[in-house]
Amino acid sequence: MSAKQKLLQAFDSKQLINPTEGICNNIHLSQALASFNGLNVEVSNQRQSQCLEKMKKSIGKSQHYIFLLIDGLGYSLLKQFPKDGFVSSLDQVQKLNTVFPTSTATALTSLYTGKWPCDHGALEWWLYLPDKKRSIITLPFVDRFSREKLVDLGFVAQDIFVAPSMFSHFNSEVRIYSHGAIAKSTYSRYGAGYQKTYGYEQLGEGIDALIHDLHELEERNSFQYLYYHGLDSFIHKNGVTASGVNEILKQIDQQIYRIKQNLPASSKVIITADHGLLDIDSRNTLILTSDGPLDKLLIVPPTGSVRVPIFHVKVGKREEFQKIFNELYGEHFILLSKEEILSLKLLGPGSFCHATSERIGDFVGIATTDCILQYSKHSFKLAAHHGGLTANEVEVPLLII
Ligand SMILES: [Zn+2]
Repeated sequence: MSAKQKLLQAFDSKQLINPTEGICNNIHLSQALASFNGLNVEVSNQRQSQCLEKMKKSIGKSQHYIFLLIDGLGYSLLKQFPKDGFVSSLDQVQKLNTVFPTSTATALTSLYTGKWPCDHGALEWWLYLPDKKRSIITLPFVDRFSREKLVDLGFVAQDIFVAPSMFSHFNSEVRIYSHGAIAKSTYSRYGAGYQKTYGYEQLGEGIDALIHDLHELEERNSFQYLYYHGLDSFIHKNGVTASGVNEILKQIDQQIYRIKQNLPASSKVIITADHGLLDIDSRNTLILTSDGPLDKLLIVPPTGSVRVPIFHVKVGKREEFQKIFNELYGEHFILLSKEEILSLKLLGPGSFCHATSERIGDFVGIATTDCILQYSKHSFKLAAHHGGLTANEVEVPLLII
């Protein structure tokens, strides 16, 4: 059976979720918000147009939009919000798919640009830039190995993030709220479309600023976007089932309710996430050794993530790589070629832009079980991961107030 057939079988059996079929994506949500804020959103086929219309209908026209992105809030976490809390009482709750790879860099860039990963090239945490011969870490905007800042090496945001943020073209007053540690980062400023950004320390403080601005903007049309990373950080470190998760969800619930209590008449609050997470038992860690048979066939250490490793293979070594990879890891990973990824439309309905085409490498591994593939020289420990195609990683909620 070919790798493509294996993946289609995993989709059929619901072992994995096809991120670009079935229910709509969070990217359609961001396109709907862009459309309500004066942008002309172009879509490429009937499914895209149906999903966009569905999102527009769900959200509705309003004077004020408040868009909350709770990093790591998978759909499966909804049941852990307090039973007597505000979120549990909401009627308008939908399930959406995020984009693939189910990574923060990929999903946030899609939300900011309204473009599929095939069109924006911001694929995953680690990327190799063949034309610059450099491996980078996308969101911190640093060289992967030396950790030198890319700006010090002469890069600008647009070298990596090739599609512009839609926020800079909205016809409403735009305000962005993000944690102080990242609010002024190269990626955050790009994502914000260089709009006015408030850096907060605690979530409640960010919500205070948002509510304050909402009153100040009452006479105008406004779009406020708040990004919260605290839940994702906690789960990465401690796991989805850790006892502290419910406490964070309770705090989020209280803050959402505070916004609700302060809403002017014509307002919509929209809440979604970039991906969910999956607990990985440390015994399910596979290792690609830096002195093993695969490493010598690679141009650079695997990029992507430990759930979705991307492989740039030396010329003439593709067949050999494929054979050895499948022998070693075939039980836990489906290894798809770049061409198969394209034909399956996993990165979206279009063809690959130049950046995507370069950065997707020759092969991509997709975890079929709750395991990860670490590169021995650069391994690290986390309790939960994402990037792959299990329901826990792909499915995110859409809450509308
Ligand atoms: Zn994330």
